[in-house]
Amino acid sequence: MSSAAPPPRILGGVPPTQATIEAVREGSDLVDLVRGRVSLVRRGGRWWGRCPFHEERTPSFSLLPPDFRRYYCHGCGVTGDAIDWMREQEGAASFYEAIEQLAERFGIPVRFEEESPRDAARREALERRRALLERAATFYAEYLWRAEEAAPAREYLAGRGFGEDLVRRFRIGYAPGGGAVLAGRAIREGFAREALVEAGLARMRGGQAADFFVSRITFPIADSQGRVQGFGGRTLDANERAKYVNSPEGDHFKKRSLLFGLSEARAPAARAKFFVVAEGYTDVMGLVAAGVEPAVACMGTSLTTDQIRLLRRWAPEVRLCFDADAAGEQAAWRTVEAAGGVNLALSAVQLPPGRDPGDLAGDAAGREALARAVDASEPLVTSLIQSRVSRAGRSPRDREGALEDIARLLRRFPDSVEKDEGVRLTAGLLQLSQGLEERLRQSSRQDAPDAAVLPPRASAPQEVRERRFLAMAVALPDAAGSYLESLPPESFQAEGHRRAFELLRAGATDIDAWPEELAEIALAVRLELAGAEVSEAELREAAYRVELPVLERRAAELRAAGDEEGLLRALDLARRVRAALRGDS
Ligand SMILES: [Zn+2]
Repeated sequence: MSSAAPPPRILGGVPPTQATIEAVREGSDLVDLVRGRVSLVRRGGRWWGRCPFHEERTPSFSLLPPDFRRYYCHGCGVTGDAIDWMREQEGAASFYEAIEQLAERFGIPVRFEEESPRDAARREALERRRALLERAATFYAEYLWRAEEAAPAREYLAGRGFGEDLVRRFRIGYAPGGGAVLAGRAIREGFAREALVEAGLARMRGGQAADFFVSRITFPIADSQGRVQGFGGRTLDANERAKYVNSPEGDHFKKRSLLFGLSEARAPAARAKFFVVAEGYTDVMGLVAAGVEPAVACMGTSLTTDQIRLLRRWAPEVRLCFDADAAGEQAAWRTVEAAGGVNLALSAVQLPPGRDPGDLAGDAAGREALARAVDASEPLVTSLIQSRVSRAGRSPRDREGALEDIARLLRRFPDSVEKDEGVRLTAGLLQLSQGLEERLRQSSRQDAPDAAVLPPRASAPQEVRERRFLAMAVALPDAAGSYLESLPPESFQAEGHRRAFELLRAGATDIDAWPEELAEIALAVRLELAGAEVSEAELREAAYRVELPVLERRAAELRAAGDEEGLLRALDLARRVRAALRGDS
């Protein structure tokens, strides 16, 4: 069996015959299908109803005479047949799956193109495995409701606010504590021990098959078509090392490509045009209890590319409902990475800090808050930018770090209106100049090279000092006047800094109006100021720090020239500047 996607139900990849496809087209009753979702009235030889593909008050959706095998809406122009209906409204993932679901619904026998003996053997092994897992799910679910030992599990579920309907809907069960209860039954029913182990339901212990899940609440994990692939098991025993265990990873149970709740969620998601992705099984149950039907859980800490591709088959948007903490934020960043290249809108559901969907669902007010939070979800890029900026400190270096992280983040998103808003939001929060905002916009384009937004930091200490002075002089133009007069331009070693200094001295304090060649320096100055403490004392210190190396250089020159008197004056000046910097003047 290939490892990537869950195997198609058209078993072993063998397609149905053309005759079967024709029979399904002929034998599917579209009126019956549509009535499941839309109330229809007969008028003027047609069936009419309110269009399920767009919002409307008066019906413009109809089934076309004479045979009502196609639907058409003259409001939004949507049209299709029973197979399209299954894909658009009932969550069928493919053409063959639509055929198969229609065949089942209308009792049409399915014949397959010829199978090779190898395909047939593979299909049979797969069927046995499925049968075993399906029976295990049924057994555990029944055991939850009838067993004395499952009473604490029933109480736990009720205590979380999960009613019996909800628990039954997700086929939550309980694995007995006996050690080999399920295995014993399955073997008596004729299943081989090896098959049990292969299905992840048993492990061999001293030549005997022992149950894999013991004394645990079981959550069946199914593929997109509801076929159980394995289980998650939760213990209620505080002394157990692992609160959760999952079926062992294997060809058929790959956590990375499965999503808890998907088979239930996909049809609602196709209609709502989004999925909500939470972290755990009980979060999904909480969301559904709050009326949010298109809910799934990723069973890891973040979504994988496989899972994202799977979700994209039914809906163009995924709303992440992760915990409002650092781990949840990390998971969201990783999801953005994993979604690179998949055309999918990502949003974030903002939960109250410290709450998760599972525990919010415990009371009516919480369920309402949860449903509202899902409605009010905002673009993920916006929420990640906000939390990254609020986590950054106020120093220029912290803010630069935030800026570079955000540029990297934006690069992962498709170029879009939301991304553009992300750039503007970042510029506002970090107080970026227009030039720097434009640079961020450029470097966040998807085809931009993975390079830093900011010019490399001036690393020479003197350049840092010079930039600091320029920033202070920009911030306090009046107080800077005397320093701008007294400092010789040669104090500035960096050519650009010297030009900027001369501009300031000439009164050009609007740095956005500086010539283009100085744009980078203007940006650096702006960033230096973002979050910096601005005061006359800071300005004076910055000026001294620029001046001191100049005085020391001059002293060295005077010493070389043998000018004793000049040397003493220069040394004295340097000494006083140093003292001023130490704060003992
Ligand atoms: Zn319509």
